[in-house]
Amino acid sequence: MIRNRRTRIVATLGPVSRDADSVLELSKTGVDVFRLNFSHGSYDDHQLAFDNVRAAELAIGRPLGILADLQGPKIRLGKFKNGEKIKLEDGQNYRFELGDFEGDINRIPLPQPEIFAVMKKNLDLLIDDGKVRVRIVDFGKDWADVKVIRGGFISDRKGVNVPGAILPISALTEKDRKDLNFALDMGVDWVALSFVQRAEDMAELKQIVQGRAACLAKIEKPAALKNLEEILDYCDGVMVARGDLGVELAPEEVPIAQKVILRAARKRGVPTIVATQMLESMITSSTPTRAEASDVANAVYEGTDALMLSAETASGDFPFEAVAVMSRIAERVEKDPRWPELMDAEHADPEAEVSDAISAAARVAANASKAACLVAFTDRGTTALRISRERPLQPILALTPNPKSARKLALVWGLESRVVRDPKSGSDMAKMASQLTSGIGLTKTGDRIVVVAGVPFGTPGATNLLRIARAT
Ligand code: PGA
Ligand code: MN
Repeated sequence: MIRNRRTRIVATLGPVSRDADSVLELSKTGVDVFRLNFSHGSYDDHQLAFDNVRAAELAIGRPLGILADLQGPKIRLGKFKNGEKIKLEDGQNYRFELGDFEGDINRIPLPQPEIFAVMKKNLDLLIDDGKVRVRIVDFGKDWADVKVIRGGFISDRKGVNVPGAILPISALTEKDRKDLNFALDMGVDWVALSFVQRAEDMAELKQIVQGRAACLAKIEKPAALKNLEEILDYCDGVMVARGDLGVELAPEEVPIAQKVILRAARKRGVPTIVATQMLESMITSSTPTRAEASDVANAVYEGTDALMLSAETASGDFPFEAVAVMSRIAERVEKDPRWPELMDAEHADPEAEVSDAISAAARVAANASKAACLVAFTDRGTTALRISRERPLQPILALTPNPKSARKLALVWGLESRVVRDPKSGSDMAKMASQLTSGIGLTKTGDRIVVVAGVPFGTPGATNLLRIARAT
């Protein structure tokens, strides 16, 4: 089974979708990577989801990626007496206090000392996805008086965003460290870190992961946008996490941020995910709004590697329909004659590396020889990633002896990956390319195939060979 589109789909598993039947159905409908969201669910839930994805992968005969998404340092209010809701009135003043007490209208509990460490006058706190906005007017070491800019109700453990400051906290909380160990022990393919602020956050993650999974930064803070290039130095992938980004930035800034992130990542060949509210209305409706369809389509026109569904597939009423619609939108855009030009509007120049010289040449060779497809023999997936970065219009088959690489590549634009043994010789390589591409319907007898590999076979990072083979 292969996909009729280059753009990949990530779907979040949750209460309505983590059972074996649903996971299988979702993968048949079009999911390439499954996301386990560690902000919700128990370890038993995640283990069940993980096992069901691996079983579905066997059943469909196509590698499926699994991404563990760590909650990160999400700041929250404390609790209120009797679980009360408190109404903050526009223009009124209130007092926040540091501590783990049960609060009320006179003392609003803010248990994070890190916020007090960066407290300053005119700093804004955004509560409950930005529904309520308050501004600091005065403060001491364990209290802050605020004026309400946008009023509303606040209650137990509501999230607090502080876009105007870099918080002196590691992006990995105690919970994240535990969750990360659990996820790595299960054997996830990707790990995503939330609320990354600086390159050091990703460096710390990579230090712990030690190559056991690919590492992805969720860009959802203004500080991360400012430090984007340095952060990308440590990223195997990046997510435009528009949910929190849209709380921390004004809504009109989000589309621009999306373009900035996608362009910077693409230039480096770092795979991208566009996430959140893509088909939000499908949580309760069997069809998307026109605006949502346009949003998904535009991300495909921008050349993102992957699109993501969150609550739509984790807890919504129409998880399969959401994946089917998303898949159809991507397929349709990719048939538009304008798509190649738009998606490749800023074609990235090859970097001064042999692997890029070969990848760029492979794209040219595929066009000039009217090849039916490209085949990349790859070990850790690097060669395949560099070819995908070139955005050739022919299908790309990535062949690797390493199941971990094949699953990692499930997130990447245009790559259809399969696990195979290393070729024994040049002629064996051509034979494998021919058999495997005709086996999945990419070639018929006589078609040309552009093959990229590294010799000696089996040495990682040695891309040095380009050959035009014929399907037999
Ligand atoms: P979340 O991340 O769903 O874990 O919050 C995505 C986002 O903020 O967009
Ligand atoms: Mn988020």
